[in-house]
Amino acid sequence: MNPSTEQPGEEKSEEKWGFDLYPERRGEKYKPSLTKIALLGEGREQSQKIKCEKNVWYCAKSSPLVKLMLAALKSSGCEVDLTRHVSCEVCDVSVSGGYDSELNQVVVCQNVARTEGLTQGVLTHELIHMFDYCRNKLDFKNIDHLACTEVRAANLAHCSFLSAVAQGDASPFHIAKAHQDCVKTKAMYSVKCTRNVTLTEAKAAVDRVFDRCYNDLEPIGRRLRRNSPDMHKAYKERFIYGYD
Ligand SMILES: [Zn+2]
Repeated sequence: MNPSTEQPGEEKSEEKWGFDLYPERRGEKYKPSLTKIALLGEGREQSQKIKCEKNVWYCAKSSPLVKLMLAALKSSGCEVDLTRHVSCEVCDVSVSGGYDSELNQVVVCQNVARTEGLTQGVLTHELIHMFDYCRNKLDFKNIDHLACTEVRAANLAHCSFLSAVAQGDASPFHIAKAHQDCVKTKAMYSVKCTRNVTLTEAKAAVDRVFDRCYNDLEPIGRRLRRNSPDMHKAYKERFIYGYD
């Protein structure tokens, strides 16, 4: 789950697993209302889908992070076929992507993740969930399992390397703290958004698993450490990932 904003938002419904955020998942065709077509142009969903699929294809060919995740999945025995395992769909605007463990599919929200940079962020995040599911047979209904993979996705994708340096006068200790806070906050909202739980319950789950899961850097961290002289280069390229 990849909330498009960090606002808590409203409770959507009684749905427990967040699938109501992805109306096309369970056979429902997203139907824009007439006013939405007139005001927001949401009737153009077919051209949006094609643009989204182009962005996915481009990221799979050119994004180092996405390529790395695809390679890691392949070497773990879970090779990704883009046409089978990635789906561009219209979602609720509160999310930019998702991972459906029942269908083993990444959802890219074509109406929210509309640039290559955002698409790369969504793909990296959701492919980490797919990787964790492939590697550990996660039980997404177990809130601690969910919290762990959300901590890893926030750590390796959203709050990725050195973004706090951009804030200027940060000391190394401050950067480490800021990064941990970023991961905790992002993971907490992802858990809350995926499961019908309060922010307090989501925070408690994240706190329970944080140390273990924050330090599990597979598969990206190991690669980055090995390439550690390239950290400056990676930092300069951070804009590609939408981490500006
Ligand atoms: Zn997530």
